[in-house]
Amino acid sequence: MNLTDKIFHDDEAARLHLEAQRWPDGAYCPHCGECEKVTLLGGVSTKPGTYICKSCRTKFTVTVGTIFERSHIGLAKWMLGFRLMASSKKGISALQLSRSLDITYKSAWFMAHRIREAMNLAPEGPLGGEGKTVEADETYVGGKRSNMHAKKRKERDLHADQKLKVVTLVERDGSARSFHVANVTAKTIRKVIVANVSRKSTLMTDGANVYHRVGGEFAAHRWTDHVSGEYVRPGAVHSNSAESYFAILKRGVMGTYHSISEAHMHRYLAEFDFRYSTRSAVGVDDTARTNEALKGSTGKRLTYRRIGEGAHA
Ligand SMILES: [Zn+2]
Repeated sequence: MNLTDKIFHDDEAARLHLEAQRWPDGAYCPHCGECEKVTLLGGVSTKPGTYICKSCRTKFTVTVGTIFERSHIGLAKWMLGFRLMASSKKGISALQLSRSLDITYKSAWFMAHRIREAMNLAPEGPLGGEGKTVEADETYVGGKRSNMHAKKRKERDLHADQKLKVVTLVERDGSARSFHVANVTAKTIRKVIVANVSRKSTLMTDGANVYHRVGGEFAAHRWTDHVSGEYVRPGAVHSNSAESYFAILKRGVMGTYHSISEAHMHRYLAEFDFRYSTRSAVGVDDTARTNEALKGSTGKRLTYRRIGEGAHA
């Protein structure tokens, strides 16, 4: 399926596609959960795709209870928005989205954030496990780019403070989970790691002090000493997965979104985590990735939110 597909240009085709994604086993009532006594209503005066539930006598469509329900934007444009967000490795700006979909900037901005919510995957248990390796690393993104020619050191320090601190956990050959933390300390790092990584895993980090104690809580802890320029040790001791995640995140934040406010950072991290965790290298193509995001549009995943401070999950 590519951008010429009908679902991106025809609201009726888009609705049928959404039904197939949301109801793979047939329509069910969003009010009472009934799936047996549900009938599609016909007739010229009925809005296409209207069902009636004979258990609770309520009419519904596939958009009830989803992010599309109260939107004035047609479903085909929504499908296209999902597709563009899911397939753009470095993200897509609200400005670009507004031009591509011919909607206002405000609508595009709203749409992009709703799609990010849909991409906010509920964690399926901890990362890693026996015989698996999870890399943990931290970086600084966003804020204003520091000006190397700044006359006053004070100014540079100010810019550095605007950088947002991000901790990312990446299961090797698997998923990523990223967190915005106020400060990188042994305490904040530990909180994120133990809440998200199976203790049966091998933890892979750099040699920073913040990882020393928490490393002892895992089956094994390996690290490289970045300070002395050592990035790869024999025996797959490296954090290249986290490094490549950060490379994409930074290109996205700098090239596409330019800067991200602290209040929204967790949403953007969810977006980059989603695309990374469903990347083509793990066998997910653009169509499957888009459909995966669409499944999150029902709002069900949102009940899993805020399991921890700074957590996007
Ligand atoms: Zn019902």
